[in-house]
Amino acid sequence: MNQNKIVVIGSCNTDMVIKSERLPLPGETIIGGVFMMNPGGKGANQAVAAARMGGNVTFITKTGNDHFGEQSIELYRKEKINTEYILSDPVHPSGIALITVDAKGENCIVVASGANATLSLADIDKAKDEIESAEIVLMQLEIPMETVEYAAQIAHRKGVKVILNPAPAQPLSDQLLKSVHIIIPNKTEAEMLSGVKVTDWLSAVTAASAISERGVDVVVLTLGAMGALVKEGDRFFKIDAIPVTAVDTTAAGDTFCGTFCVGLSQGLSVVDAVRLACSASAISVTKMGAQASIPYRKEVQFPTTTSTQV
Ligand code: ADP
Repeated sequence: MNQNKIVVIGSCNTDMVIKSERLPLPGETIIGGVFMMNPGGKGANQAVAAARMGGNVTFITKTGNDHFGEQSIELYRKEKINTEYILSDPVHPSGIALITVDAKGENCIVVASGANATLSLADIDKAKDEIESAEIVLMQLEIPMETVEYAAQIAHRKGVKVILNPAPAQPLSDQLLKSVHIIIPNKTEAEMLSGVKVTDWLSAVTAASAISERGVDVVVLTLGAMGALVKEGDRFFKIDAIPVTAVDTTAAGDTFCGTFCVGLSQGLSVVDAVRLACSASAISVTKMGAQASIPYRKEVQFPTTTSTQV
């Protein structure tokens, strides 16, 4: 096992954003917007976060055989991510999100997953050695569920730590949960998995307990501006968020997950890795954008926030 290799398996997208005065009505064309193109996708964001925090990162994803795919891979290389296992789909295009944002910040998004939806079991087999020799495999749910389940099984069988960020929220099989060592849901995802509405620390404890009863060793529940709750065995820890003025919370969860894995891979305890992740994600919410807001290790002060056993 490579002592600190983190393999991220997930999506990569290109976000095409138009900022306009208002959102169009069905059938309407609005002239007069500003266009921006940004790299995105939860898998890519988390791989970039882990790399910027100093992690040894391999990213397994699938792009189309097109300009967007090439541009994304070029960016990952610049971030010093191992791109050797990125696949190219000869038929389907790279994943694209078309986003319209109005003057009030309200948005309207359509995602064409493209090649992300074709990341298959056979593709995972091609990267089997890389997965089996990792210390941590980090996944999200923007690729086919059967691919996530398969990769989790391969990693788990070899004693590789499987960390799952179950986003976007969807139901998970008990079989998948049994292969997961650490799950990192936000409030919405925790509610979907536990049936418990998370509104405060007490309901967070109840939700985390219900999720861990389904077979996961460690639950890290992210709670936005409150911080995060850790359930490790019978113990619960509350980690307060760093107080900041948030301007855009896009990619806060992605920064958190990527940073958390680096903390673990560098020998921190789960609670200390969460403290590091809270410090990094607090910085990300003070800046606009997804990957543009993800900090580098030198910007993150640690330790800053405290943890309390509850
Ligand atoms: P997601 O982005 O997946 O919905 P959260 O909103 O729970 O996830 O945010 C993830 C982490 O980012 C939190 O656990 C917290 O550490 C940090 N964070 C999010 N919002 C804020 C905020 N307003 N102030 C400080 N930290 C924040």
